[in-house]
Amino acid sequence: ATIGEFLRDTAHRFPERQAVVFREQGVRWTWKEFDERVDQLAAGLLSLGIAKGDRVAIWSPNRFEWLLTQFATARIGAVLVNINPAYRVSELEYALRKVEIKALVTAEQFKTSKYVSMLLDIAPELASQPAGDLHCARLPDLRTVICVGDPGMPGILPFSAVMEKGEAILRDQGQTTIALSAHDPINIQFTSGTTGNPKGATLTHRNIVNNGRFVAMAMKLTEADSLCIPVPLYHCFGMVLAVLACVSVGAQMVFPGEGFDAGATLAAVAEERCTALHGVPTMFIAELEHPDFPSFDLSSLRTGIMAGSPCPIETMKQVVAKMHMREVTIAYGMTETSPVSFQSGTTDPLDKRTTTVGRIQPHLEVKIVDPLGNIVPVGVTGELCTKGYSVMLGYWGDEEKTRESIVDGWMHTGDLATIDADGYCNIVGRLKDMVIRGGENIYPREIEEYLFRHPKIQNVQVFGVPDEKTGEELCAWIVLRQGEYASEEDIRDFCRGQIAHYKVPKYVRFVDELPLTVTGKVQKFAMREEMIRLLN
Ligand code: ATP
Ligand code: MG
Repeated sequence: ATIGEFLRDTAHRFPERQAVVFREQGVRWTWKEFDERVDQLAAGLLSLGIAKGDRVAIWSPNRFEWLLTQFATARIGAVLVNINPAYRVSELEYALRKVEIKALVTAEQFKTSKYVSMLLDIAPELASQPAGDLHCARLPDLRTVICVGDPGMPGILPFSAVMEKGEAILRDQGQTTIALSAHDPINIQFTSGTTGNPKGATLTHRNIVNNGRFVAMAMKLTEADSLCIPVPLYHCFGMVLAVLACVSVGAQMVFPGEGFDAGATLAAVAEERCTALHGVPTMFIAELEHPDFPSFDLSSLRTGIMAGSPCPIETMKQVVAKMHMREVTIAYGMTETSPVSFQSGTTDPLDKRTTTVGRIQPHLEVKIVDPLGNIVPVGVTGELCTKGYSVMLGYWGDEEKTRESIVDGWMHTGDLATIDADGYCNIVGRLKDMVIRGGENIYPREIEEYLFRHPKIQNVQVFGVPDEKTGEELCAWIVLRQGEYASEEDIRDFCRGQIAHYKVPKYVRFVDELPLTVTGKVQKFAMREEMIRLLN
């Protein structure tokens, strides 16, 4: 199915059930209302000359306009380009130019980011040229800018005006049907930028519709479920694991706010009686550590997905014990593979669900290879490769990188993993993060898991810094629990005799917070750069 048909089916099955709640905006729609609004926006976009194959970017936090744009562009065959809400001018220009953007949907501002004024830095013409006749020097393909709210600029159309126009067209002329194939590209999703410059992965309807369906199956999601979605919509975690999974079965989507806030998320779960909750590990940690945590009634929760970066076993245990998520699952994936390739099922034994990323999804193949490309024996660490319906078409406008990453249909993930005899997969860490110290291969994840057991440690990240003698030395950045104190020596003492001597971090640094991407992932490259600066 195409994404548009996917939503239509669900709207026909459950017209009167509640589909969407945006708490911050006070929006509550049934599936029928949601579907009708998507048609209105689709008609509005068509009337602006946006056609099949055109790239339409969205640069906005989690708002209902995001969801409408996701499905309306899909219905007319335009290719939606997800822009990270944290981008600043130069990253925005890079992304928009890279995909030769035709239209942009944005919001006036998010937190302290003034989107419209940043946009004017790249396209000052918006302030003087009329909408419909735009010619911007640095964005030559840009024809239309639509903004949530009305910045009062001749070149920018208010979102509500496009909706109203679409509504009038539907009333007078009815619907225009566009011929689409499930194999058409539908999305250019930029990766998180955890290891460097984000890359644009080109995905088809077939890629992500199927992925959403399998994710829902593994969680046993039904129309009786209600999923709380604090993860960003711009990322595949939001738009596929959350939105498309819910659409596939008619589960309700509850958005606590425009950006992540632990208190707002807990309140949304308690007040809307959500049965499921998604998050990256740092989000779950922030929720568990929230000062008012005990006052929220989370007894309605059953399941959810933790994913996006290594999921500490301690955090998983607490999520099960304190948040009632006895059927919580872990998923592993990457933007380039739609994204999920491994997920534990609600019926897997609890220890497998807390310590592994589960087994390979239906209809996918997996292999683990050594640096020469040979398949390694069961239990041996190597690079994880996956193949099947979920692998992207390629990186937009970067054939060379595509050729390096996809070999004979196999996506090389850049992640190190082992698979046991029962097929359960353990992510050892990123190939790029592996530390080689005096000839020993060290996987930072293993040390992080050990340090997470320290009662005073709230969060910890371990990485390597260059060293003249040993090649690399280990460094740990630690966030202590509120009101706790520990010295560097305390931390090393905790390790001595418990983990091999060469795995005891030489450098320990206490910090108030870790450098995060908007997705909530820890940027080890940023810590490494900072540490190299501090050491020199
Ligand atoms: P970039 O590719 O731009 O550096 P990124 O790899 O973080 O950023 P994403 O596509 O959002 O971009 O994330 C995919 C990566 O996240 C995987 O390759 C893996 O390293 C990590 N990851 C995802 N899920 C898990 C998980 N459950 N356990 C461990 N790591 C995970
Ligand atoms: Mg990546």
